[in-house]
Amino acid sequence: MHETIQKLLSKRPVLIDGAWGTELQKQGLKPGESPEALNLENPAIVEAVAQSYVDAGSQIVITNTFGGTIYTLERHGLADKVEEVNRIGAEISKRAAGDQALVFASMGPTGKMLMMGDVTEDELFDAFSVQAKALAAGGADGLVIETMSDLEEATVALKAAKETGLPVCVSMVYDAGADMDRTMMGTTVEQAAEELTAAGADVIGSNCGQGIEGFVKLAARMKASTDLPIWIKGNAGLPEMVEGKTVYKTTADDFAAFAAPLLEAGADFIGGCCGTSPDFIRALKAAL
Ligand SMILES: [Zn+2]
Repeated sequence: MHETIQKLLSKRPVLIDGAWGTELQKQGLKPGESPEALNLENPAIVEAVAQSYVDAGSQIVITNTFGGTIYTLERHGLADKVEEVNRIGAEISKRAAGDQALVFASMGPTGKMLMMGDVTEDELFDAFSVQAKALAAGGADGLVIETMSDLEEATVALKAAKETGLPVCVSMVYDAGADMDRTMMGTTVEQAAEELTAAGADVIGSNCGQGIEGFVKLAARMKASTDLPIWIKGNAGLPEMVEGKTVYKTTADDFAAFAAPLLEAGADFIGGCCGTSPDFIRALKAAL
């Protein structure tokens, strides 16, 4: 086990942070705008989000680099800023974390489909490799490849991320199938757990895609398929449209009620995804 993970797990469970996208929107980010551009244009509001989670008690905070590969940045005219966006993103979270929390830098999907021939495996590897190296250069303590639907893309990202020597968590999104236990591509919890374990992940998990209540069974099924620690970040319910606005209806207390069942099911790292906020992390902390 990676030394960083071992140290963290000596204080199991480990409290992670909550949503970034919805928090940045509260600070003025508009739908369709690049969240990552804020690392260069308005780092103060990015740091404020990280700080709000450190203050809430998160032992790990992520970074504003989810869309930090060249393929996502080029859609916003930032193709020549990949190194900067990621390095500075890690530096911002590190500043907020100080010696109170660790920073696991976020790497999300590229939006390119290997299966459709949008990119080759080598191109994908290079894109993730550039991002991972920049995040490491910015001082990240670990990397989290998250919200992945395509196991093949996740595995390529994992291989690139591991070259940094940092611990790597791979977190899939299960939002399909009658039991909400498959990725959009049809991969089951067990298939992903086994393949990611074999590919050398340090932690595996699931985030996004459904409300926190669904993650109890996901955590149990992951635990049964791997010896690795389990990372869980559920949503505050499914998004609903109310008067043209996206709202998440699960409250912080309702969310935190799942802390104990999640722990029992085998979750080691617990935090929140879309719709969660520092209030949710405070409620989780109290419950844990
Ligand atoms: Zn989410």
